Order: sequence, then C-alpha cells, then structure tokens
Amino acid sequence: MPAFWSEPDWDEHERVEVVHDRASGLTAIIALHSTHLGPAAGGTRFWHYEDPAKGMRDALRLSRGMSYKNAMAGLPIGGGKAVVLLDKDRTKTEAMLHAFGDAVEALDGRYVTAEDVGATEADMVAIHTRTEHVCGLPADEGDAGGDPGPFTAMGIYHGIKAAVAHKLGTESMKGVRIALQGCGSVGGGVARLLAKDGAQLTVADIDDKRAAAMAQELGGTAVAADQIMGVACDVFSPNALGAILDEEGIARLDCAVVAGGANNQLARPHHGQQLHDRGILYAPDYVINAGGIINVSYEYLCRREGTPCDINEVRKRIARIPGRLGEIWSESDASGKPSNEVADAMAQALIGR
Ligand code: NAD
Repeated sequence: MPAFWSEPDWDEHERVEVVHDRASGLTAIIALHSTHLGPAAGGTRFWHYEDPAKGMRDALRLSRGMSYKNAMAGLPIGGGKAVVLLDKDRTKTEAMLHAFGDAVEALDGRYVTAEDVGATEADMVAIHTRTEHVCGLPADEGDAGGDPGPFTAMGIYHGIKAAVAHKLGTESMKGVRIALQGCGSVGGGVARLLAKDGAQLTVADIDDKRAAAMAQELGGTAVAADQIMGVACDVFSPNALGAILDEEGIARLDCAVVAGGANNQLARPHHGQQLHDRGILYAPDYVINAGGIINVSYEYLCRREGTPCDINEVRKRIARIPGRLGEIWSESDASGKPSNEVADAMAQALIGR
C-alpha cells in the first residue's frame, strides 16, 4: 500500500488507523479527517477492493466529505469514515463486527460510526455490543435513528425538487424526467418519493433484477447500468458509488441537473467546473445527501445526553437542505464559480481550514 500522505486525497487528516484483527480476519481503515466541530462521525463501508489502496483512497475522500457534510448541515460533529476491506465473496462475520466495534471503542469517542454501503442495522447492533460510539441503531416508532437510507433519500428528494425549481422554473415534478443510477437503500427511496409526484423514471443498477423490479413497481423504465449516464433527462441522479463524474462521464450526460446521493460524485474537484461550463446545475453531494447523518447524529447526541429524540425534529432539519442548496446556487450564479467550489469554501470556513 502506498504511503497515504502521497495520496491526492490526503488532506492533513487528524488520524488514520489501519486495523487488522488476525482472529476474525478483519481489516479496516478508520480515517478521522476533522474533530474541529465535535467527534468525527461517518458510516462504515463494507466493500471488496481489488486493490487495498483504493480502500485507503475511499476512506480519505469519504472522511473529508463527512467533515464538509456535517459542517454544512449545521451539526456539532466532525468528519470521519471507515472502510472494512472484505474478501471477494464479501464475507462479513459477527466476529469481524465485534473486532471492528473494539477498534471504534479504542478511539474513545473520537469516532462515531453508522451504516454506509454494504452495512445494515443488524451490523450496527453487533458493533454496539462493543462500543457506545455507534448510531443508526433500530429506533422505536416516532424516535430518530435506524437505517439512515430513507432519511438520506428524503433530503435528496427535497433537493431534487429545489434544483428543478431553480433550473427549470417549475414547482411540479409531474412528467419531470429522472435518470436514476443505483436502486439500493437511497436510490430506491428517492425513486419512490419522486414516483408519487408523477416524475418519469428511468432506473439502472448493476443488479439488473433490482432495477427491473423497481421499474415495474414504480411504472418506470429500466436500462443497463452502462447506459444510464447517457439517458436524455432533466435530472441525472447518481445513487450508487462515487467518482462517476469524470471527463468521459460528464461528456455523456444529457441532462439539466445532477442531483443525487452518492458520495464523492466528482472524480476530481475540477470536474465541477466542467459541469458548470456545460450549463448543468450540480447539487454538491455532501449537502444534498446529509439527511441520513442528520437523523443518526441526532439519535447519537440524544442518547448521549439522555434527551428525547423526536423524529419530527429530524424531518424539520432535513427540510432545511433545499435552503442551503439555494444559498450555494445563488452565490454560484452571482460569482460565476461552480457550485462545488462555492460549497467547499463555505465548508472549509466552518471547519477552520
Ligand atoms: P446500497 O448498497 O443500498 O445501494 C447501492 C446500489 O447501487 C446497489 O443496488 C448496487 O447494486 C448499485 N450499484 C453499484 N454500482 C453501480 C453502478 N456502477 N451502476 C449502477 N448501480 C450500481 O447503498 P446506499 O446506502 O443506497 O448508498 C448509495 C450511495 O449513497 C453511496 O455512494 C453512499 O455512500 C451514499 N450515501 C448513502 C447514505 C445512506 O444513508 N445510506 C448517506 C449518504 C450517502
């Protein structure tokens, strides 16, 4: 593995831990980007990487993204992220989850984990047997917490509506053409909310059956995963993995707006300029996809302080996402700078960088 400080995504992270537990076979990377605003919080990704250096890159990029996301969402927490490097069969055992919980506990509250790609509520319960510093635990009716996916989807849905209003000048989603990449927890939730409003959906997933089932459920069309970025639409909504917006990906887009939940959608920051130059309105990923962390961080902070944890408070906070996007787009319109640069500058000011 190359030294991580020579990685392009190294950003003076406060702490990066590589954890190996021989007994369970766990190998994980925990990256703490910033604790300026509070404990570094961000989910754990369970993934198989052909090259472990890619796992390190993800941990560095995703943890910085969490610092920006949490700051822009007005949360009293910093940014961190963990990656568990799974084998080809994506084997994940109870023993590995326990060993991971021990590693989180050893950080003594500097890092708070939650779900990300490949993780479930049941995984968080297993981790919780070893540490208090975990959120996204099953919640009682009416309480914050649980799977962050539906709350992330709720924020993206509000954000897409705001983007359509800003760019296309319409408040109605009826007939608005959405091309949606990734039909998992987040993408599926976004698709269902948009379908209720009468949006016209085209969906894709590397799991073809999942995409076909979603299209059938919602009355949309499924296309092959390698086709979705070229579909003619009003909104392209990336809800799978990151770094899809590179030269080639942007050149293929045939849309007015890019707004979706995937983390780190821009392969490099200058790709935001490329979107801007093409006249495509971009909703900075870490601003639009903050719904899940708004929910689970509230759960964690309420649990820590022993205060009530009303889900309606979470809904209110998620409903502020369009306002933040609006501020970014207005400044972008006024300054001529791409929206990702405007958002980054706002976030950096908040975390003191
Ligand atoms: P998930 O595992 O439930 O779903 C991801 C889906 O994307 C899967 O169905 C997978 O088959 C599909 N996929 C993977 N690669 C693809 C490709 N190249 N083309 C099409 N489909 C592909 O994960 P999720 O929780 O829905 O997360 C999706 C994205 O949103 C991730 O980037 C994640 O980091 C981000 N995110 C998630 C949350 C959350 O609350 N879960 C919060 C913020 C950001």
